[in-house]
Amino acid sequence: MNELDHDKLLESIARLTEKRNRLSLEICLTQTMFDLLAVEEIALYRCEADQANLLVRVDHEGCQVPSDDLDDLETMIPVATDAGFLACVQEQQVVVEPTAQGNRHTFPIPRHDKLIGFLRLVASRDLREDHRLVEGFVQIYWNYLKLIEDNERDKLTGLLNRKTFDDKLLEILHASRRSAQAKLRREQPERREGDGGKHYWLAVLDIDHFKRINDTYGHLYGDEVLILMANIMRSSFRRADLLFRYGGEEFVVVFKTRALEDAHNVLERFRQNLERYHFPQVGQVTASVGFIQILDLEVAAELITRADKALYYAKEHGRNQVCSYEKLIANGALAVPDDHFGDIELF
Ligand code: GH3
Ligand code: MG
Ligand code: MG
Repeated sequence: MNELDHDKLLESIARLTEKRNRLSLEICLTQTMFDLLAVEEIALYRCEADQANLLVRVDHEGCQVPSDDLDDLETMIPVATDAGFLACVQEQQVVVEPTAQGNRHTFPIPRHDKLIGFLRLVASRDLREDHRLVEGFVQIYWNYLKLIEDNERDKLTGLLNRKTFDDKLLEILHASRRSAQAKLRREQPERREGDGGKHYWLAVLDIDHFKRINDTYGHLYGDEVLILMANIMRSSFRRADLLFRYGGEEFVVVFKTRALEDAHNVLERFRQNLERYHFPQVGQVTASVGFIQILDLEVAAELITRADKALYYAKEHGRNQVCSYEKLIANGALAVPDDHFGDIELF
């Protein structure tokens, strides 16, 4: 952008700051910069555990947003294997490398003393005079990301909040439906499961006799139990699992495993970690868990209702245990529901 078009620039900043959701902010940032800077390609990466994960890529063909399949290797680059990323981490400033298409400019996205991501532009023209502009966009992105992340989280525990749960579950259901439809079109269901045949599971975790804790030790101790419970969840589940505070002393986890038994084991590990933890003053705290597989045809509210049924079963049968909705249906402990929403338009 040799001649800075101020109107265009202001318009793009206004568009960017309108966004209230992380993915739409990231798509807007990448697309806006692509339109403004006349480059060949722009890609935005998030850094996680020494990996750069592609979030959005825009080129002359259009905009690409990879699915969030954890095992999709094409969109995950170990930072140590990429000279540009590595130099960017070491030098904490933009790194320029020659490529066949033109120079590749990798900008660090810092937060405090660590890198949270990279913005990578490939340009056939000289881009050096626009480096300040790109850094300005990175700063705007950073500020808005912080705002969006604060709004996504519960203030007490730092876990994702109920509103985020509703959004994420709809996203997951949409994505599952799209991939089921794509599979049908390919008529080769066995060929590529994308992530090795993993399924999403939804678990509702509810602290046992929490009212007693409040009544006996007071609300402040109750709040501390909630904070420590969230910490135990963070250390029991994997980084990619989605952890929510759903309401008062009720939590939800959305995670992926291959089979029902694996999902049960993951939740059982959490249940035991909680049971073994010594809470200051309060001592032992336990939780009951109900879980269900997320199928692409289901309605979000119905999923929670069913996981809740498994949770209530756990509560009624001694608490401090993990119950699978599917297993309770299979062994006749819960009544089979009428699938009344089977052929209606779901979304
Ligand atoms: P059960 O084992 O059947 O789940 O019993 P319970 O006592 O855990 O469940 P109940 O639903 O009867 O009580 C939940 C309590 O959680 C009541 C409410 O005052 C308390 N609570 C909800 N939100 C908060 C909070 O943010 N902080 C604290 N300290 N307590 C809360
Ligand atoms: Mg409870
Ligand atoms: Mg409850």
